[in-house]
Amino acid sequence: MSIFTTASLLDSCGCCTGRIWHARRAFLLAAAGAAALPVAAQVDVGKSSAMRQLVPVEQLETSATQQYDQMLAQAKAKRALAPDNHPQLIQLRAIAQRIIPYAQQWNSRAGSWRWEVNLIGSKQINAFCMPGGKIAFYTGILDQLKLTDDEIAMVMGHEMAHALREHARERIAKSQATSIGLSLGAQLLGLGELGNMAANLGTQLLTLKFSRSDESEADLVGLELAARAGYDPQAAVSLWQKMGQATGNGGIGFLSTHPTGPDRIRELEQNVPRVQGLYLQSRR
Ligand SMILES: [Zn+2]
Repeated sequence: MSIFTTASLLDSCGCCTGRIWHARRAFLLAAAGAAALPVAAQVDVGKSSAMRQLVPVEQLETSATQQYDQMLAQAKAKRALAPDNHPQLIQLRAIAQRIIPYAQQWNSRAGSWRWEVNLIGSKQINAFCMPGGKIAFYTGILDQLKLTDDEIAMVMGHEMAHALREHARERIAKSQATSIGLSLGAQLLGLGELGNMAANLGTQLLTLKFSRSDESEADLVGLELAARAGYDPQAAVSLWQKMGQATGNGGIGFLSTHPTGPDRIRELEQNVPRVQGLYLQSRR
């Protein structure tokens, strides 16, 4: 069961950030004479760290895919990989299908990601999305928290947001730059990418813990993604209330990397009105 107990939150990669990206995209579309302009993001998450660019995104995505495939193979060997006709897997994939069209707005690379969604039989409360759009849910998070479709969409949106905002890439860049004693300035001024030193990115992906601000970003971007896809934003609040109750039963997996407290829930509550219009619009 080692794989199930060590896997934590993996995330992903891509490129841009909300407002800057929107501006560039709006410009490109206008220049191309396109009729439709992108809808501006409703949540405010600021810019992504430039530091992430030290890790080559293609290499990170390739490593993530290898790690994901290996994890699926191990799960399959233990007869813990849900088959395509498993009802909960069908449910997860249907939710992903509704959210994915809105992903590219947050990361231009996401349009060419080969998204995958799989379900692993494990009591652990866990879910993740690796760089490049490789998603996994554990049966524990669905069953123990008795998640509704709306709440599943909030978890999925949150995890996809880590990937879209390239939080793993940023964490790895920061830890590697520190470990080899190079300043960011030196790196940016000509020492190039950390790629070749990142010999084992995939392994690192399994032990990453994101920062508080990464978590806050993932909450808000995920909330917006799910709302655009037609999922009730209020479910973000009920989801984290359920997480908070489950934390009392021992925080491993998702719960250990996602502390729930009044601050987290309050921030989500404050942002629900911002995306309510998107939700209502998508329900029409
Ligand atoms: Zn998270």
